[in-house]
Amino acid sequence: MSEKDFYQVLGVERNATDSEIKKAYRKLAIKFHPDKNPNNKEAEEKFKEISAAFDILKDSEKRAKYDQFGHDAFRGGSSSSGVDPFDLFRDVFGGSGSGGFGSIFEDFFGGSATGGSEGMRGNDLRVSVSISLEQASSGVEKEIKYSRHLECSSCSGSGSSDGSSKSMCGTCGGVGQVASNQGFISIRRTCPTCNGSGVTIENPCSACSGDGRKKNSDSVKVKIPAGINDNSRLCSRGRGDAGPRNGPCGDLYVDVQVKTHDLFERDDDDLFHELLIPFTLSTLGGSIEAPTLGGKVTLKIPSGTPSNKTFRIKDKGMPNLRSPSHRGDLYVRTSILVPQNLSKEQRQKLVEFGISCGEKDFSEDSGILKKAKKFFEGEQ
Ligand SMILES: [Zn+2]
Ligand SMILES: [Zn+2]
Repeated sequence: MSEKDFYQVLGVERNATDSEIKKAYRKLAIKFHPDKNPNNKEAEEKFKEISAAFDILKDSEKRAKYDQFGHDAFRGGSSSSGVDPFDLFRDVFGGSGSGGFGSIFEDFFGGSATGGSEGMRGNDLRVSVSISLEQASSGVEKEIKYSRHLECSSCSGSGSSDGSSKSMCGTCGGVGQVASNQGFISIRRTCPTCNGSGVTIENPCSACSGDGRKKNSDSVKVKIPAGINDNSRLCSRGRGDAGPRNGPCGDLYVDVQVKTHDLFERDDDDLFHELLIPFTLSTLGGSIEAPTLGGKVTLKIPSGTPSNKTFRIKDKGMPNLRSPSHRGDLYVRTSILVPQNLSKEQRQKLVEFGISCGEKDFSEDSGILKKAKKFFEGEQ
């Protein structure tokens, strides 16, 4: 199964509405349908890919899962792998699936208009929240303040000041869109008279100008699960904008960013830490404290440990998003702290140590450099 992003496959934004997704699928499904591309393996693959993506994104529950967990949500399970692209195609277009293009094109070009925005679903909204690695590890509840369109309290969302009559918009005939013809292509745009609602209200509510909604501040508590990855998206159903004139609410998408940490780098469920160890410890061996997200642990360093040696501390990584009782590991990579600004005495000791190891005396004052200098000076 392809691992391409479903939204990219359909060429839609992540906050695309259901109808945008359906529209995108229709367009692509027609383009790559095997009937239109006989003996074209590539088109067939593409057709399957589009179908698999649409199968998930058309279903709000599956889509929410996908938004949260990506392809992992459906791995090893039923769902996307079991899609019959032709069944799906038939579902969406009706008719006989293969060969049913007549009805499809009717649908596209002569189609019956879906009347106005009366009772239409409100927009989806998007907010972002950023959390620490510690919060991503433990899970956290965040209260998010944002503003959205809510039912106008003056008119209870009806848009009318006195419950007075609504009538069909004369400009668009209640459709909410007006069409202009250019050649044989008909272009529709939102009706300017009724702003797409398809109705005009005799005495519009003064508080909301007949829209039935007002912008309000709101807040929502979002449970961010332990183990969440950076750039994840959660969905809070029905927390988006209310629809005009008592239309249902859209959804609220919460983009979660996990801040980078001073001590740990993350790779999925594993964490990495660069641990500075004194040169004496690396040489002699011993114990040192190493940080973890849950406090310090003691790490044994064997004598003769070089730089970039990696120690694994089991189960001290991040919890797994889908089974939080399982944690990744923490990898501690050594980096040797080289002593600086030595005193004369310390220096002397190290020189002696070096000589005892059979090394030459590299130091500038008394070493080969000095001898070399003398040698050249003597020659002049
Ligand atoms: Zn109102
Ligand atoms: Zn109109």
